[in-house]
Amino acid sequence: MANKAGFETKLIHAGEPSPRIQGAVVQPIFQSSTFEFHGEKTYHDVKYIRLNNTPNHLVLHRKLAALENAEAAVVAASGMAAITTTLLALLSRGDHLLIQDTLYGGTHSFVTNDLPRLGIAFDFVKGDDPQDWERKLQPNTRVIYVETMTNPLLQVARLDEVPRFARKHNLVSVIDNTFASPFNFRPPEWGFDLSLHSCTKYLNGHTDLVAGAVIGRADLVEKITHLLNHLGGTLDPHACFLLNRGMKTLALRMRYQNASALALARFLESHPAVTRVNYPGLESHPAHALARQWFDGFSGMLSFELAGGLPAAERFIQRLQIPVEAPSLGGVETLITRPATTSHAGMSPEDRQKLGITDSLIRVSVGIETTEDLVADFRQALEGI
Ligand code: PLP
Repeated sequence: MANKAGFETKLIHAGEPSPRIQGAVVQPIFQSSTFEFHGEKTYHDVKYIRLNNTPNHLVLHRKLAALENAEAAVVAASGMAAITTTLLALLSRGDHLLIQDTLYGGTHSFVTNDLPRLGIAFDFVKGDDPQDWERKLQPNTRVIYVETMTNPLLQVARLDEVPRFARKHNLVSVIDNTFASPFNFRPPEWGFDLSLHSCTKYLNGHTDLVAGAVIGRADLVEKITHLLNHLGGTLDPHACFLLNRGMKTLALRMRYQNASALALARFLESHPAVTRVNYPGLESHPAHALARQWFDGFSGMLSFELAGGLPAAERFIQRLQIPVEAPSLGGVETLITRPATTSHAGMSPEDRQKLGITDSLIRVSVGIETTEDLVADFRQALEGI
C-alpha cells in the first residue's frame, strides 16, 4: 500500500496479506501457538504467539505503522503493557524521565510507584511550558513523555516543541496518542520518536477487547519488541483479529464522534448549570488555536463541572438515560464517569486536587448515538438536578 493512499483506504487495505489467504476477503485467525521452523536466525524471529509475530500480529504492525506514517509498529496485550514496556526499554537504573504532570491514572501510578523502586528518577513537567522542561532537564535525562490530550482535563501540551526539545537534548520523545487516535493526530509526522496507544479505546472502538500499540522509529520499536517478548505482554490472535476488524471503521466512527462531541460541548458551555467545559474543539479552550493546527479533529472526549458540585454531579449522572456509567472510552456507546472514582482513583486525593481533577468532575466519552438524542438527554438531566 503506497504511503500516499488516503487514511480510509489504509484502514481497509494497508498491511493485509497479498495474495489473500485461500482467497479469504478477511484474514482468518491463526489460532496456533507455534509455527514450523524455517531457519529463522534469531530467537525473536521464531514464529510463536508470545513473540507477537503471527500473521494476525504482522497485519496490525504494518497497518498501524501506515496509519501514522511511521517506520514500524508492534502491538501489546494492553495500553499499559505498551506504556510500561516502552518506559522500561528506554530507561535504566540511574536515568531520569521528564513526564507531563496530568497523566492517565495508570501511567501516573506506574511512574510514581514502580520507577523509583528500579532506580529511575522522574520529574513532572507542565506540558505547555517548555521553560519548565529546561529547568528540570538533567544530564541523565533520557526521555520526555506527554499525552496528546490529557485525561481527564483535555489539556493540550506544546506538541510542536516536544520533538524539538528532545532532538536538542538527545532525548527520546514519547506521546500517548490514545485520546486523539491516528485519525485526528499522527505524532511521527510531527517528529515524535514513539506514539503509544491503548487500542482498547478508539482504534478498536467496540468496547470488547484490551490491546496496546507502540508506533514509531524502527530501531526503538525493535528494542521495545525484544523486551515485550521477555515480559510476555502478548496480544492474543483472536484479539488481533477483532482489533483489525474494529480499526477498519475508525475514520467513520471518529469523524462522527468528533462532530457529536463538539455539538455536546457547545450545548454544555451554553447551559447555566455548567461552570466549565474542557474540550479542545471549543474556542474557549486555552490551546484551541494551536490544537487546530495539529489535529484533524478534537475527539469524542470532554469533561465538565456543574455549579452544584458533587451532589449535582451524582444526580446528573443518575438522571441520564443514554450514557452508560462506566470507565474507559472510545467505544460506540457513550460512557460517563467521575474520574476521581475510576480512571484516577489510584492517584492520591492531594495529587488529584493539585492537578485540578475535582471529585465532581464529569468525563464523557461520546459514542455514535444520534447527536440530537444525546443533547436532549443531557438537557433533561441538567433540568432535573
Ligand atoms: N492511556 C490512556 C490515555 C488511557 O486512557 C488508558 C486507559 O484508560 C491507557 C493508556 C491504558 O490502556 P489499557 O487499559 O488498554 O491498558
